[in-house]
Amino acid sequence: MADLQKAEIVGTPALEGTYIGEMDMWPFECQEFNRIYPFYDNLKEGKFTTTKCKDCGYTAFPPGVICPSCWSENLEWVELPKKAKVVCLTETQAGAPIGFPSPLIMAWLTFGEDTPLKHLLGRIINCKEGELKEGDEVQFVVFDVPSHPIDVKRETKICDRVFYAFEPVK
Ligand SMILES: [Zn+2]
Repeated sequence: MADLQKAEIVGTPALEGTYIGEMDMWPFECQEFNRIYPFYDNLKEGKFTTTKCKDCGYTAFPPGVICPSCWSENLEWVELPKKAKVVCLTETQAGAPIGFPSPLIMAWLTFGEDTPLKHLLGRIINCKEGELKEGDEVQFVVFDVPSHPIDVKRETKICDRVFYAFEPVK
């Protein structure tokens, strides 16, 4: 029963349990459904990671299961920097997509020259409207995402889920 109550709040609380799976905007993160599940396992430990090719050295983001540079499947998981600077940003104060509270803040981030991940369009949370400015420092943060039951072979399973964003460094 507790599982069903949990299922009713997936992603889009306004729908009150309707279209549970179809309206879920977050990835299936468990091993049975996702070949980059280590990315989410690492998130749960507070680590920001991606895949690096052991053959040619190319680091890709988002992580994948083959190297986009040489097509090798010989990859390893490496950590990425957790702090970035805001290059520019947008704040959606009204009409944010369903499931996202206002303001929905998206920022173009720069991680500097000494990292394979130079830039990223990231979501900013824990931030009030008008608080974030260009040039401000932000840090990586992990937050919980609602789960819902999924059928895996003959069992019904609920996988805990998380996702990442960035927040202002106070
Ligand atoms: Zn490669």
